[in-house]
Amino acid sequence: MRYLVDKLREITTRLRNVGIRDAEREAEALLCLALNINKAALYCHDLIEISNEASSASKLDSMIARRLARQPFQYIAGETEFLGLSLAVGTGVLIPRPETELLVEIVTGIIKVKHKPTLNVLDLCTGSGCIALALAKQFPTSVVHAVDISEIAIRYAAANAATNNINNITFHTGSLYGPVQTHTFDVIVSNPPYIKTFDIALLEPEIRLYEPVEALDGGQDGLHFYKKIITGAAGRLSEGGIMAFELGDTLAAAVMEIASEAGYSKLTLKSDYSSTERFLIINE
Ligand code: GLN
Repeated sequence: MRYLVDKLREITTRLRNVGIRDAEREAEALLCLALNINKAALYCHDLIEISNEASSASKLDSMIARRLARQPFQYIAGETEFLGLSLAVGTGVLIPRPETELLVEIVTGIIKVKHKPTLNVLDLCTGSGCIALALAKQFPTSVVHAVDISEIAIRYAAANAATNNINNITFHTGSLYGPVQTHTFDVIVSNPPYIKTFDIALLEPEIRLYEPVEALDGGQDGLHFYKKIITGAAGRLSEGGIMAFELGDTLAAAVMEIASEAGYSKLTLKSDYSSTERFLIINE
């Protein structure tokens, strides 16, 4: 007979032994997910016996095995939260990060002071669709286009729009501005792949073994997509339009330079939760 608290302790130790940092919190989350209970129940019902529930026990075992193999928790759960939206994620789509929530909040603040009724928004390298969805929901009268080279990502993003009842986004599979050549935009936003090719091998196993490399790899210098997006914006950005980017670690100065070389002078850097220069806003 196994009690939940014992099981919790056992899973915590196993996760810790493979190098998972926040092992106790993760063990709690896995137990809650597999047994479909909330965190309070985990501690209040410490006399619940789980061994009789064969399906829950095998579900739990398989989830633990996946996590021990360093699969990201969000892939095991099949979903994650982004600014209050529940988004499906899985193999082939980048898991949204908290920094990207901050990017959306920054862009939201800028759009609010613009007071333009029908705003045309472009999200390049949309992945799970997180940025496009959060902006489209926040600004229901806006017209949002979201592009990704990955068909899998676009399938996730479109499904995420549907499950969140968001209808003002058009999704395109293609390369950057390719599918939206005839449009102009008031806002071009992107969290492009920005890890230097060489640095990918140094990332946490959850990222380097499981997340799609094409969503991470920003080329030798990490700048590949910034160059293409910023230089390609001529003709795509409307009068008074803004661009907003999430930046890779240590890339701020180089991306600023790309922007000034492309003729943009109104450049604003903003920092993330750990005071790293993480966002560049052009024409704020
Ligand atoms: N933020 C992701 C990471 O730290 C990278 C995502 C990206 O390249 N845009 O792994």
